Amino acid sequence: MSNTHNCNHDCDNCENKCEEVEQGCNHDCANCSQNCGGAHSKEDFLKPQNQYSNVKNVIAIMSGKGGVGKSMVTSLLASKMQKEGFNVGILDADITGPSIPKCFGIHQQVEASSECIFPRETASGIKIISSNLLLQNETDPIIWRGPVIAGLVEQFWTDVAWGDVDFMFVDMPPGTGDVPLTVFQSLPIKGIIIVTSPQDLVSMIVEKAVKMAGKMDLPVLGIVENMSYFVCPSCDEKHYIFGESNVEEVAVNYSIDTVSKMPIDGKLPALCDQGLVEAYDEDALKGIINKLKNL
Ligand code: ADP
Repeated sequence: MSNTHNCNHDCDNCENKCEEVEQGCNHDCANCSQNCGGAHSKEDFLKPQNQYSNVKNVIAIMSGKGGVGKSMVTSLLASKMQKEGFNVGILDADITGPSIPKCFGIHQQVEASSECIFPRETASGIKIISSNLLLQNETDPIIWRGPVIAGLVEQFWTDVAWGDVDFMFVDMPPGTGDVPLTVFQSLPIKGIIIVTSPQDLVSMIVEKAVKMAGKMDLPVLGIVENMSYFVCPSCDEKHYIFGESNVEEVAVNYSIDTVSKMPIDGKLPALCDQGLVEAYDEDALKGIINKLKNL
């Protein structure tokens, strides 16, 4: 029997004994030789928003490895877009290394009803959900296996009452593992912003992230090269502490038209430590911000 009924994409919990079950469905129609008629399109895997959410643009912030400033860039983009008059949310998908709430000075647990979870709001009104806001003690580690972590990220999308959000920034865990895959499949991603440091480009880590976006058929809106240079406060000269990179060349190779360069700025970690990242007022991410405003 071929799969001509309404496939629920969940063979384990399906009463229809179609060929997918008999032949061992791999849930990956694009790479399957069985012509069962299941034909799952990209849209089939998207999880719908709940009745309390109206999120318009979901932007994933990705990096090839940790420590390059992905959460910092997420926080700055969110703060700037909120200042520009948009309603902004941050879904912190970095479940085992959440740093978003601290940068905004949010330490209170979230509240929930029987139907949904309510995000916390920052001083300027950015809505935030993060694994750290679920813990009784924010220094407790989350020691879960990949699929459970990916499930929580999905719930942050399906079970949180986001309200009206023009731009939702998803702070991804570093790399190209389980969670990025879940986010790219389950959320209606409008585009990806890749954060790198000059060394990343040398080691080709950033190209892995760009290629993952390509394989998932998602547009890369731009690259942010963080810690790109340092401006000497005495002589105003730019110093390329980690060497000058080839970020423009990589962008051209992959037809990415927007590159923003963020300097190393000692004010940033200090503001984050105080939970005041929204107070940062330099315009380093102008190129990406303009791109977002014109989406
Ligand atoms: P990631 O999310 O990629 O792991 P973070 O955003 O947590 O990285 O940044 C790592 C550290 O570097 C943090 O202490 C942060 O305050 C600091 N940092 C990030 N970007 C800058 C910058 N442009 N100038 C100075 N410090 C920065």
